[in-house]
Amino acid sequence: MGNEEKLFDDDENWLHEEWIVCPACNQSLFRLDASPLDNSNHFYADRCPVRIDVIPYGPEYEQLEQSLALSQDDKEHSYADYRGVLMRAIEAHLKPCTCGGMVRHDAPRRCFSCSLPVISDDPDGVDLYPDEDAFERELDPQRQERLERWQAQFLPHLENPWKGPSETES
Ligand SMILES: [Zn+2]
Ligand SMILES: [Zn+2]
Repeated sequence: MGNEEKLFDDDENWLHEEWIVCPACNQSLFRLDASPLDNSNHFYADRCPVRIDVIPYGPEYEQLEQSLALSQDDKEHSYADYRGVLMRAIEAHLKPCTCGGMVRHDAPRRCFSCSLPVISDDPDGVDLYPDEDAFERELDPQRQERLERWQAQFLPHLENPWKGPSETES
């Protein structure tokens, strides 16, 4: 019985949602693990809080995967290693952030107010949001507008996140 209750509790918060506070400016921030249902890879700028999502298909992505020349067997036997290699390969082919910083899957997660790192230890797979509004189905117009402003600034939709061929030759 006790065990069942515990399991239920874990299920309720399976993405480890938690409110945290920026130690530098006291801004409240909402952290959670990237959902396994979201198949995009999340990359963060290493100088600012901007996040770039990369979908795991399209010619650039598939070419990168092929260039790593790993067999299905490799992928299954050391998935964590494979993912690390793939993430690094993707990073090398992504455009830098508009601030000039590189985008990396394991860059520290930064506060949206003061830009200082809030999650530096093992940030891979963790996302920060200003609040839970990004996960609401319907928002009143004011909150919707605030969410869209945040997305435009920190989660920009890029038609093409990839560098041009000439920029990756070196
Ligand atoms: Zn940036
Ligand atoms: Zn802050």
